[in-house]
Amino acid sequence: MDHVYDLIIVGSGIAGYSAALTAKSLKIDFLWLGEGAFGGKAGKVEYVRNYPAFYGNGEAFGKALSAQAEKEGIARVRARIDRVYKMKEGFVLTAGEESFHAKSVILACGVQTSGSLKGEKEFLGRGVSYCAVCDGGLYRGKKIAAVLSSEEYAEEAEYLASFADTVYCFCRYPEPVFQRKNILVRTGEPVAVEGGLRADKLRMKDGTALDVDGVFLLKDSAPPEALVGGLATEGAHVKAGRDLSTNLAGLFAAGDITGTPYQFAKAAGEGLVAAYSARAFLSKAGK
Ligand SMILES: Cc1cc2nc3c(=O)[nH]c(=O)nc-3n(C[C@H](O)[C@H](O)[C@H](O)COP(=O)(O)OP(=O)(O)OC[C@H]3O[C@@H](n4cnc5c(N)ncnc54)[C@H](O)[C@@H]3O)c2cc1C
Repeated sequence: MDHVYDLIIVGSGIAGYSAALTAKSLKIDFLWLGEGAFGGKAGKVEYVRNYPAFYGNGEAFGKALSAQAEKEGIARVRARIDRVYKMKEGFVLTAGEESFHAKSVILACGVQTSGSLKGEKEFLGRGVSYCAVCDGGLYRGKKIAAVLSSEEYAEEAEYLASFADTVYCFCRYPEPVFQRKNILVRTGEPVAVEGGLRADKLRMKDGTALDVDGVFLLKDSAPPEALVGGLATEGAHVKAGRDLSTNLAGLFAAGDITGTPYQFAKAAGEGLVAAYSARAFLSKAGK
């Protein structure tokens, strides 16, 4: 069996980083996993105005975070977690073919508030998926639509095309390029997923619709309930207490994923609290 960490932190942003810094100082045996740029959304910020002891642009903020992480010896392992499974004892996290084991987990995956489609939650698990690796195999020989939030997901679309008859790609970035011939780039703007028992249509802003067997929404932060089965949520957010615990014992959440205000200071504070709460959970459980 692989190493079972006391704690796995998921998310490359400031909430995940703060949780990792705190876990290190609390001497917790932890692993920090995250995809995308180090610092999460920090790199996109034009000017950070309201974070104590820092002022400047997001790039400089991201660099300051990286420099501190290096000094503290905190390394993030690049991985996109597809699913988190609550087991009888602890958790299993999967990233493609890889799996990681932990006694407790902090979810610090941020939140994607824009670009959601009407009906996407309703059809989750009934024709809507956020993970090509998890669900691509279910669409062998079928017609599917994939909505890609960035170029980073081109590889996942190629993977889908290795199973599907046709993959219609709607790319929210300029000049998409694909290798496989059964990937057809479409230019309409998808606004809704529709269907009966299962999703079977992708509706466009101009009113037209594409008939499909499934829809893959490939974006940076999938809704939390798509990541963790049975997790209690409220809208786009994870329901968490003041100690950042969730309805699943041993699973904590921090940062934008727990709700507004979407701010660095709140995310950093919650990362710290979640790490303390994880330690309390581990001590109580005698782990
Ligand atoms: C344009 C803009 C300007 C802003 N300006 C300010 C400001 O001036 N001041 C301020 O305080 N706040 C500002 N914010 C808000 C701030 O950026 C967020 O509150 C903060 O980044 C939240 O941190 P987080 O760690 O919770 O999430 P994020 O920064 O979103 O980080 C989450 C990370 O987790 C990764 N991730 C997601 N899912 C997975 C998965 N399944 N597996 C692995 N990794 C995953 C993502 O790729 C991402 O890197 C701004 C935001 C934007 C977009």
